[in-house]
Amino acid sequence: MKEYQNYIDGEWTPADSGDTFVNSNPADTREEVAQYAKGGRADTQAAIAAAQKAFPGWRATTAPARGKILSAVANILAGRKDELAEMLCREEGKTKMEAGMEVGRTIDIYRFVAGLSYTIGGSVVPHDLPNNMLFTKREPMGVVALITPWNFPIALPAWKLAPALVSGNTVVHKPASMAPGMALEMAKAFEEAGLPQGVLNVVVGSGRDVGDELATNPAIQALSFTGSHEIGHGIYQQLAPRMTRAQMEMGGKNPTIVLADADLNLAAKLVAMAGFGQTGQVCTATSRAIVDEKVAQEFTEKLVLEAQARNVGNGLNDGVNMGPAVSAGELDGNLDYVKIAQDEGAELCWGGKRLGEGDLAHGHFMSPAVVGNVKNDSRLAQEEVFGPVVGVVQSGDFDEAISLANDIEYGLSASIITRDINKAMRYTDQIEAGVVKINQISTGLALQAPFGGVKHSSTNSFKEQGQTAVDFYTRVKAVYLDYSAG
Ligand code: NAP
Repeated sequence: MKEYQNYIDGEWTPADSGDTFVNSNPADTREEVAQYAKGGRADTQAAIAAAQKAFPGWRATTAPARGKILSAVANILAGRKDELAEMLCREEGKTKMEAGMEVGRTIDIYRFVAGLSYTIGGSVVPHDLPNNMLFTKREPMGVVALITPWNFPIALPAWKLAPALVSGNTVVHKPASMAPGMALEMAKAFEEAGLPQGVLNVVVGSGRDVGDELATNPAIQALSFTGSHEIGHGIYQQLAPRMTRAQMEMGGKNPTIVLADADLNLAAKLVAMAGFGQTGQVCTATSRAIVDEKVAQEFTEKLVLEAQARNVGNGLNDGVNMGPAVSAGELDGNLDYVKIAQDEGAELCWGGKRLGEGDLAHGHFMSPAVVGNVKNDSRLAQEEVFGPVVGVVQSGDFDEAISLANDIEYGLSASIITRDINKAMRYTDQIEAGVVKINQISTGLALQAPFGGVKHSSTNSFKEQGQTAVDFYTRVKAVYLDYSAG
């Protein structure tokens, strides 16, 4: 079993309280994966103080110099890719392919943002008068807090950390308690790459203590959070009185619309990939298939075949293409929703059962669920499940499909499967979502494109990823220079 301390002021530090906790493998809970120092308020305050102390020095470096450290981190992670992917499987339950892709994505994020370092600065704005210059200047915010979820425990922190650091901020990161190992491994890579002490601090501990301290400490100049709407909304309220800059990216209830003209084999394959991939534990997962009633039956049969083709098991085993839920609580929640849907009159077409035979006896496994005849106002259609459960909602015409897709509090990702380009384009105009896909899965993002939700999926303030990611982590000054005198 690995043992980790918190990373504070460039030192690997036990918790002030001396407390620790252990995480086990969700595919086989008999295996203890890692023991962590359980940080609390005192540790978080020490991390914030270290980040404050390191800020002037880090801010004084140039963005390209900071980018070189990100490049070095990318290379270090690339050298450890297989080892990190395996640990990610063990701690979070991903399959080998999913974990390998996530670590690969992380490396690419650091490379992308390292390149971006040569573009961060500001711009020249035309002045009204001759011999005058007007330009903008981007500056770091100061000490930035990052709070992240367990479902992408390395790529997601990286897509916050890279733009935060390259912009000249110092950081306190609180990873999710269910999978903090990857964040600490990343901190090791930064240490090896020569990041000055105190620039990055990682404190593992509960949301109630570490997270709350970050949300309430006045030294924090900006807080970027990804997680559930409930928690994100609460943190946003805590930041508002101090007008601390906030970026909350939260849950989704993402539709894939299937029109009657769609290739139904393709549609079923894409919905299954987006609904059951990563065990459905993705904020952009398809959880509502909104299908034209003329093809709903045929589509549902094909989706059931896709669900049956999922080989559920320990993600480290060859041939497994769907791992466990991350915890017993998440598994119970998924199964509860299957039951709730049936109680609400929907039809369980396949799956949705706890799996515990043979090799699966010690993990949090279930068969992927296909639920038919789901009403759009039912709980299954309105609430985020965050597991491998796809509800099929029938629609009449195209306009009704759009209206059903939009009749939801969330607005993260939305997909449409059709051969009709006119309808696809009308859909892109009308759909209320931050990510819009046509004939593609609702999951999967290009790291160079802006990402973020609308409605209750986001604070709708700043986008993550792509070139715009640095906007959240910088302030813009407008500078007026008159050189006409003399
Ligand atoms: P969560 O329960 O909201 O937790 C997210 C983070 O907040 C964790 O680090 C958690 O710490 C911390 N936290 C909990 N209570 C807190 C508090 N009172 N104050 C401050 N921090 C607190 O979410 P999750 O279960 O980890 O992740 C699943 C959710 O994330 C889903 O809703 C999913 O849709 C969303 N998500 C969204 C995106 C996106 O980009 N929109 C991407 C991925 C996931 P502990 O772990 O210690 O409780």
